Amino acid sequence: MLDNIKIVHHQGKQFIPDVTTAKVPGIFRGRPVISLEKVDETKLQSICPTGAISLKPVSIDLGKCTFCGECANQFPDKIKFTTDYKISTNEREGLIIKEGEDKTVEVNPEKVREEIRRLFGRSLKLRQISAGGDNSCEWELNAANNVQFDMSRFGIEFVASPRHADGIVITGPVTENMAEPVQICYDATPDPKIIVLVGTDAISGGIFAGSPAINRSFLDKYTIDLYIPGNPAHPLTIINGLLDLTRKK
Ligand code: SF4
Repeated sequence: MLDNIKIVHHQGKQFIPDVTTAKVPGIFRGRPVISLEKVDETKLQSICPTGAISLKPVSIDLGKCTFCGECANQFPDKIKFTTDYKISTNEREGLIIKEGEDKTVEVNPEKVREEIRRLFGRSLKLRQISAGGDNSCEWELNAANNVQFDMSRFGIEFVASPRHADGIVITGPVTENMAEPVQICYDATPDPKIIVLVGTDAISGGIFAGSPAINRSFLDKYTIDLYIPGNPAHPLTIINGLLDLTRKK
Protein backbone atom coordinates (compact mmCIF):
# COMPACT_ATOMS: atom_id res chain seq x y z
CA MET A 1 0.00 0.00 0.00
CA LEU A 2 2.75 2.43 1.02
CA ASP A 3 4.69 1.53 -2.13
CA ASN A 4 1.64 2.32 -4.27
CA ILE A 5 1.23 5.73 -2.61
CA LYS A 6 4.92 6.42 -3.26
CA ILE A 7 4.47 5.56 -6.95
CA VAL A 8 1.43 7.87 -7.28
CA HIS A 9 3.32 10.66 -5.50
CA HIS A 10 6.35 10.15 -7.77
CA GLN A 11 4.31 10.15 -11.00
CA GLY A 12 2.19 13.15 -10.11
CA LYS A 13 -0.67 14.22 -12.38
CA GLN A 14 -0.54 12.46 -15.74
CA PHE A 15 -2.71 14.90 -17.65
CA ILE A 16 -1.81 18.39 -18.86
CA PRO A 17 -4.23 20.75 -17.09
CA ASP A 18 -4.07 23.47 -19.77
CA VAL A 19 -3.05 22.35 -23.25
CA THR A 20 -3.12 25.94 -24.54
CA THR A 21 -0.25 27.12 -22.32
CA ALA A 22 1.74 23.92 -21.78
CA LYS A 23 5.50 24.16 -22.23
CA VAL A 24 7.51 21.71 -24.34
CA PRO A 25 11.22 20.84 -23.96
CA GLY A 26 13.79 23.14 -25.61
CA ILE A 27 14.81 20.47 -28.14
CA PHE A 28 11.34 20.65 -29.73
CA ARG A 29 11.30 22.30 -33.18
CA GLY A 30 8.26 24.48 -33.62
CA ARG A 31 7.81 27.79 -35.45
CA PRO A 32 11.12 28.96 -36.94
CA VAL A 33 12.37 32.53 -36.76
CA ILE A 34 14.55 33.78 -39.63
CA SER A 35 16.88 36.71 -38.94
CA LEU A 36 18.07 39.34 -41.44
CA GLU A 37 21.68 38.06 -41.10
CA LYS A 38 23.48 37.92 -44.47
CA VAL A 39 24.45 34.33 -45.39
CA ASP A 40 25.19 32.29 -48.50
CA GLU A 41 21.53 31.99 -49.45
CA THR A 42 22.10 29.62 -52.36
CA LYS A 43 23.88 27.19 -50.05
CA LEU A 44 21.14 27.60 -47.44
CA GLN A 45 18.48 26.79 -49.99
CA SER A 46 20.37 23.81 -51.37
CA ILE A 47 20.51 21.93 -48.05
CA CYS A 48 16.74 21.68 -47.69
CA PRO A 49 15.56 18.19 -48.72
CA THR A 50 12.03 19.27 -49.60
CA GLY A 51 12.49 22.69 -51.22
CA ALA A 52 10.85 24.38 -48.24
CA ILE A 53 13.27 27.32 -48.34
CA SER A 54 12.64 30.15 -50.82
CA LEU A 55 14.72 33.29 -51.43
CA LYS A 56 14.00 37.01 -51.82
CA PRO A 57 12.95 37.13 -49.05
CA VAL A 58 14.35 34.03 -47.35
CA SER A 59 11.34 32.07 -46.14
CA ILE A 60 10.40 28.62 -44.89
CA ASP A 61 7.18 26.93 -45.95
CA LEU A 62 6.00 24.94 -42.91
CA GLY A 63 3.76 22.94 -45.23
CA LYS A 64 6.88 21.54 -46.92
CA CYS A 65 9.35 21.59 -44.01
CA THR A 66 10.22 18.22 -42.46
CA PHE A 67 11.60 20.00 -39.37
CA CYS A 68 14.88 18.11 -39.85
CA GLY A 69 16.70 21.13 -38.39
CA GLU A 70 19.58 20.99 -40.86
CA CYS A 71 19.18 24.64 -41.96
CA ALA A 72 19.36 25.79 -38.33
CA ASN A 73 22.34 23.51 -37.67
CA GLN A 74 24.34 24.93 -40.56
CA PHE A 75 23.14 28.55 -40.29
CA PRO A 76 22.46 29.07 -36.57
CA ASP A 77 22.66 32.87 -36.84
CA LYS A 78 20.09 32.88 -39.64
CA ILE A 79 17.49 30.31 -38.55
CA LYS A 80 16.33 29.29 -35.12
CA PHE A 81 13.48 26.96 -34.25
CA THR A 82 11.38 28.11 -31.30
CA THR A 83 9.27 25.85 -29.10
CA ASP A 84 6.09 27.53 -30.32
CA TYR A 85 3.87 24.57 -31.23
CA LYS A 86 0.84 26.69 -32.22
CA ILE A 87 1.49 26.58 -35.96
CA SER A 88 -1.87 25.47 -37.37
CA THR A 89 -3.80 27.74 -39.71
CA ASN A 90 -6.64 27.76 -42.21
CA GLU A 91 -4.62 29.72 -44.78
CA ARG A 92 -2.01 27.92 -46.87
CA GLU A 93 0.06 31.11 -47.21
CA GLY A 94 -0.05 31.49 -43.42
CA LEU A 95 2.42 28.59 -43.21
CA ILE A 96 5.15 30.63 -44.90
CA ILE A 97 7.57 32.17 -42.39
CA LYS A 98 9.59 35.10 -43.77
CA GLU A 99 12.91 36.54 -42.67
CA GLY A 100 12.73 39.51 -40.33
CA GLU A 101 9.26 38.53 -39.09
CA ASP A 102 8.53 37.06 -35.67
CA LYS A 103 4.78 36.66 -35.76
CA THR A 104 2.66 33.76 -34.66
CA VAL A 105 0.84 31.39 -37.00
CA GLU A 106 -2.92 31.62 -36.40
CA VAL A 107 -6.32 30.57 -37.68
CA ASN A 108 -7.92 33.48 -39.51
CA PRO A 109 -11.41 33.77 -37.94
CA GLU A 110 -12.67 35.70 -40.99
CA LYS A 111 -12.17 32.62 -43.12
CA VAL A 112 -13.79 30.07 -40.81
CA ARG A 113 -17.15 28.96 -42.22
CA GLU A 114 -20.01 30.13 -39.99
CA GLU A 115 -21.42 26.62 -39.51
CA ILE A 116 -18.12 25.26 -38.20
CA ARG A 117 -18.23 27.27 -34.97
CA ARG A 118 -22.01 27.05 -34.67
CA LEU A 119 -22.20 23.26 -35.05
CA PHE A 120 -18.80 21.96 -33.96
CA GLY A 121 -17.96 24.38 -31.14
CA ARG A 122 -18.73 21.85 -28.42
CA SER A 123 -18.46 18.53 -30.19
CA LEU A 124 -16.41 17.45 -33.17
CA LYS A 125 -16.24 13.88 -34.43
CA LEU A 126 -13.57 13.08 -36.98
CA ARG A 127 -12.78 10.18 -39.28
CA GLN A 128 -9.06 9.74 -39.84
CA ILE A 129 -7.74 8.56 -43.22
CA SER A 130 -4.16 7.37 -43.52
CA ALA A 131 -3.59 8.11 -47.19
CA GLY A 132 -0.21 6.48 -47.58
CA GLY A 133 1.05 7.78 -44.25
CA ASP A 134 4.03 6.29 -42.41
CA ASN A 135 2.09 6.02 -39.14
CA SER A 136 3.95 8.92 -37.50
CA CYS A 137 1.16 11.51 -37.67
CA GLU A 138 -1.35 8.73 -37.05
CA TRP A 139 0.57 7.89 -33.87
CA GLU A 140 0.45 11.52 -32.72
CA LEU A 141 -3.28 11.74 -33.46
CA ASN A 142 -3.68 8.73 -31.19
CA ALA A 143 -1.51 10.44 -28.59
CA ALA A 144 -3.76 13.51 -28.71
CA ASN A 145 -6.45 11.36 -27.15
CA ASN A 146 -4.27 9.65 -24.53
CA VAL A 147 -4.51 10.37 -20.81
CA GLN A 148 -1.85 13.08 -21.00
CA PHE A 149 -3.29 15.30 -23.76
CA ASP A 150 -6.90 14.11 -23.35
CA MET A 151 -8.38 15.84 -26.41
CA SER A 152 -11.75 14.21 -25.77
CA ARG A 153 -12.25 16.55 -22.78
CA PHE A 154 -13.11 19.15 -25.47
CA GLY A 155 -15.56 16.84 -27.20
CA ILE A 156 -13.11 16.16 -30.04
CA GLU A 157 -12.92 12.47 -30.84
CA PHE A 158 -12.29 10.03 -33.66
CA VAL A 159 -15.06 7.77 -34.89
CA ALA A 160 -14.97 4.57 -36.89
CA SER A 161 -17.41 5.50 -39.64
CA PRO A 162 -17.44 8.59 -41.85
CA ARG A 163 -21.24 8.51 -41.52
CA HIS A 164 -20.82 9.40 -37.84
CA ALA A 165 -18.20 12.08 -38.52
CA ASP A 166 -18.24 15.86 -38.89
CA GLY A 167 -15.16 15.84 -41.03
CA ILE A 168 -12.13 13.96 -42.25
CA VAL A 169 -8.51 14.16 -41.15
CA ILE A 170 -6.01 13.17 -43.83
CA THR A 171 -2.46 12.05 -43.12
CA GLY A 172 0.10 10.91 -45.67
CA PRO A 173 0.84 12.23 -49.17
CA VAL A 174 -2.30 10.60 -50.73
CA THR A 175 -0.98 7.69 -52.72
CA GLU A 176 -2.54 6.63 -56.00
CA ASN A 177 -4.16 3.64 -54.29
CA MET A 178 -5.67 5.83 -51.57
CA ALA A 179 -7.05 8.56 -53.88
CA GLU A 180 -10.37 6.79 -54.42
CA PRO A 181 -10.86 5.69 -50.78
CA VAL A 182 -10.29 9.29 -49.67
CA GLN A 183 -13.01 10.45 -52.07
CA ILE A 184 -15.40 7.69 -50.96
CA CYS A 185 -14.82 8.55 -47.30
CA TYR A 186 -15.40 12.26 -47.95
CA ASP A 187 -18.59 11.56 -49.91
CA ALA A 188 -19.91 9.36 -47.06
CA THR A 189 -19.45 12.13 -44.48
CA PRO A 190 -22.61 14.22 -43.97
CA ASP A 191 -22.65 17.96 -44.72
CA PRO A 192 -21.43 20.34 -43.48
CA LYS A 193 -18.05 18.68 -43.16
CA ILE A 194 -14.52 19.82 -42.66
CA ILE A 195 -11.22 18.71 -44.17
CA VAL A 196 -8.12 18.76 -41.99
CA LEU A 197 -4.63 17.98 -43.28
CA VAL A 198 -2.16 16.78 -40.67
CA GLY A 199 1.57 16.69 -41.33
CA THR A 200 3.97 17.73 -44.05
CA ASP A 201 3.15 14.78 -46.30
CA ALA A 202 -0.57 15.60 -46.33
CA ILE A 203 -0.09 19.34 -46.81
CA SER A 204 2.46 19.27 -49.64
CA GLY A 205 3.43 15.68 -50.37
CA GLY A 206 6.62 16.22 -48.32
CA ILE A 207 9.54 14.15 -49.60
CA PHE A 208 7.13 12.37 -51.94
CA ALA A 209 6.03 15.54 -53.76
CA GLY A 210 6.14 15.01 -57.51
CA SER A 211 6.24 11.22 -57.25
CA PRO A 212 4.11 9.33 -59.82
CA ALA A 213 2.99 7.12 -56.92
CA ILE A 214 0.87 9.89 -55.39
CA ASN A 215 -2.39 11.39 -56.63
CA ARG A 216 -3.40 14.59 -54.87
CA SER A 217 -6.22 15.61 -57.21
CA PHE A 218 -8.76 15.26 -54.36
CA LEU A 219 -7.10 18.13 -52.51
CA ASP A 220 -7.44 20.43 -55.54
CA LYS A 221 -11.23 20.06 -55.52
CA TYR A 222 -12.10 21.29 -52.04
CA THR A 223 -11.31 24.07 -49.59
CA ILE A 224 -9.06 22.86 -46.80
CA ASP A 225 -10.39 23.99 -43.42
CA LEU A 226 -7.24 23.46 -41.37
CA TYR A 227 -3.56 22.82 -42.02
CA ILE A 228 -1.71 21.23 -39.08
CA PRO A 229 2.00 21.13 -39.95
CA GLY A 230 4.69 18.95 -38.43
CA ASN A 231 6.68 15.88 -39.31
CA PRO A 232 4.94 14.43 -37.44
CA ALA A 233 2.57 17.02 -35.99
CA HIS A 234 2.77 17.37 -32.19
CA PRO A 235 -0.41 16.55 -30.20
CA LEU A 236 -0.39 20.12 -28.80
CA THR A 237 -0.28 21.48 -32.37
CA ILE A 238 -3.17 19.22 -33.32
CA ILE A 239 -5.36 20.08 -30.31
CA ASN A 240 -4.73 23.83 -30.40
CA GLY A 241 -5.37 23.93 -34.15
CA LEU A 242 -8.71 22.15 -33.82
CA LEU A 243 -9.73 24.34 -30.87
CA ASP A 244 -8.80 27.54 -32.74
CA LEU A 245 -10.82 26.40 -35.75
CA THR A 246 -13.96 25.40 -33.86
CA ARG A 247 -14.11 27.74 -30.85
CA LYS A 248 -14.38 31.45 -30.43
CA LYS A 249 -11.61 32.87 -28.25
S1 SF4 B 1 14.27 22.19 -41.10
FE1 SF4 B 1 12.79 22.44 -42.79
S2 SF4 B 1 13.50 24.23 -43.91
FE2 SF4 B 1 15.23 23.51 -42.66
S3 SF4 B 1 16.40 22.14 -43.99
FE3 SF4 B 1 14.96 20.85 -42.81
S4 SF4 B 1 13.16 20.68 -44.13
FE4 SF4 B 1 14.36 22.41 -44.94
